[in-house]
Amino acid sequence: MSSASDALTLFRPTVAEIDVDAFRRNIAAVRAMLPYESQLIAVLKADAYGHGALAMGHVCAEEGVAMLAVALLEEALELRDRGVRAPILVLGPLISAQIPAAAASDITIGVIGPEELRDVCRFSRQNGREVTIHLKLDSGMGRMGLLPGDLDDAARLLLDAPGVRVDAIYSHFANASDPDPSSVEGQVVQFDAMVARLERLGITPSLRHFANSAATFRKIIRPGDWVRVGLAIFGGEPLDDQHARLEPVLRWSTQIARIKQLPPGSPIGYGSTFVTTRDSLIATLPVGYGDGYNRALSNCGEVLVRGQRAPVVGRVSMDLVTIDVTDIPGVRYGDEAVLIGEQGGERITAEEIAAKIGTIPYEVLCAISVRVPRIYESRGRVLVASRFRDERRAWPGAEE
Ligand SMILES: *Cc1c(COP(=O)(O)O)cnc(C)c1O
Repeated sequence: MSSASDALTLFRPTVAEIDVDAFRRNIAAVRAMLPYESQLIAVLKADAYGHGALAMGHVCAEEGVAMLAVALLEEALELRDRGVRAPILVLGPLISAQIPAAAASDITIGVIGPEELRDVCRFSRQNGREVTIHLKLDSGMGRMGLLPGDLDDAARLLLDAPGVRVDAIYSHFANASDPDPSSVEGQVVQFDAMVARLERLGITPSLRHFANSAATFRKIIRPGDWVRVGLAIFGGEPLDDQHARLEPVLRWSTQIARIKQLPPGSPIGYGSTFVTTRDSLIATLPVGYGDGYNRALSNCGEVLVRGQRAPVVGRVSMDLVTIDVTDIPGVRYGDEAVLIGEQGGERITAEEIAAKIGTIPYEVLCAISVRVPRIYESRGRVLVASRFRDERRAWPGAEE
């Protein structure tokens, strides 16, 4: 897309194009699956899974998404400070010193344990401040949330701190992508028992949320429950055993910066882990693990050039990748190379890369580093480009 390079003429051609229209369509697709009166909480942690939280947050607000969620208070404050007015939930954990800043910026605190609850209640009482929280229960994930044995004390603390408003109770599934429903069913039973106990103790918020992308696509949602969806709105595949009709939002590309003919026996890259066995055309790409292209893709990744797959040969280094383009007719200096995304009808997904290196698409997307400019496009036009060292640019039309 020439528009992308136009926006960044002084930059290396390694960019991540973000298809804002695809993002909007994924949001619509997820919302269309929700039961009556259920709402989407868009999860934008880790810079919106590498897509840029600021831009994605503004798009969510434009789409009227009910709530955004991030992991860190810092992430929430950045959205607030840059004009995102939507309700924001911090999944946490927060430390005690962060609570005043969260309250001052109208951030909803996901309270993940008895200590955090104690600190929130104390802050509210001592300062006469209203604090909005969502209370997290550990129904079997074993990571964050109140356990059954914490509930009596929690209820006492809350009844003693009327300024702390519990807007919702929530929990998180450990195995929602697993086709075997037994773990999910066990967590739901545990959650229901804990919610009932809280109700008997006088803590009775009507709102619940439980489902992530995988649980949403398995339709493990009760009417009225909200869902917390990250991967799916970015077009990731939430389930291993079903194909969701979502569109990848991010396309990561670069251009061939060096191409050369080499005879058999030519070593390539650090450690000379690849040696040509034929007359070869080897191309060098200006992207490396410093940009988030995983070093484990050494001698195993593939990229697209002229709509064909070209294997990564030799080690991925910090700033460079070498590929074998011998079998690609007409290949030239300056040709586009696609690391993630579609080219000429062929596609490389974050899922494919993840499978090759034994991780999950989440990590592949999150890893794309700040060195890679994000270019936001709609209907083939560049809306805004967030550049290296300038990635804090405001979304067009948003107040600072
Ligand atoms: C990251 C996260 C989500 C979103 O998960 P996806 O699988 O990306 O939809 C939901 N809830 C919590 C608590 C999370 O940490």
